[in-house]
Amino acid sequence: MGDIVSYEEVPASQVPLAKRLAAMEMKSFCTADLGLPYLKIIWAQKCGHTRQYSGQLFRNYVEAFGIAYLAEKIIMLNIELLEYKVPHTAAHECRHFYQFKHMPDFPGNNDIEWDANRYAEQALKALHYWRCCQRSTAMSCTDKSLYIS
Ligand SMILES: [Zn+2]
Repeated sequence: MGDIVSYEEVPASQVPLAKRLAAMEMKSFCTADLGLPYLKIIWAQKCGHTRQYSGQLFRNYVEAFGIAYLAEKIIMLNIELLEYKVPHTAAHECRHFYQFKHMPDFPGNNDIEWDANRYAEQALKALHYWRCCQRSTAMSCTDKSLYIS
């Protein structure tokens, strides 16, 4: 973490189905739970001077497993993410869109990361109810208030 890198989009067909399904399921919960617009998930990998694929290129970003492109409504997920960590990261990135929506002066500080991680933990618990089609119970598992100073 900390290095500045570029990412290239990896075709969905190159991403294990279990990871894609896990990301889509969590995104569908979070967008309903947080009242978010449609968010597109793009899988990407770090790239150097030569690119392997012809999809979207994201230049010069801090190295991360997930990035929320707020204006573009894109969630970038790093294909290096381990499968069991996909739901947490997807929820974390969704929360950044919620923060952005509700705070015109979106701060770039540690609070937004803390709040996003806190939400992701709650979302993981909510997912069980979401799977069982208990939507209101699922949505009651998460705190909509923002814990940002
Ligand atoms: Zn974050």
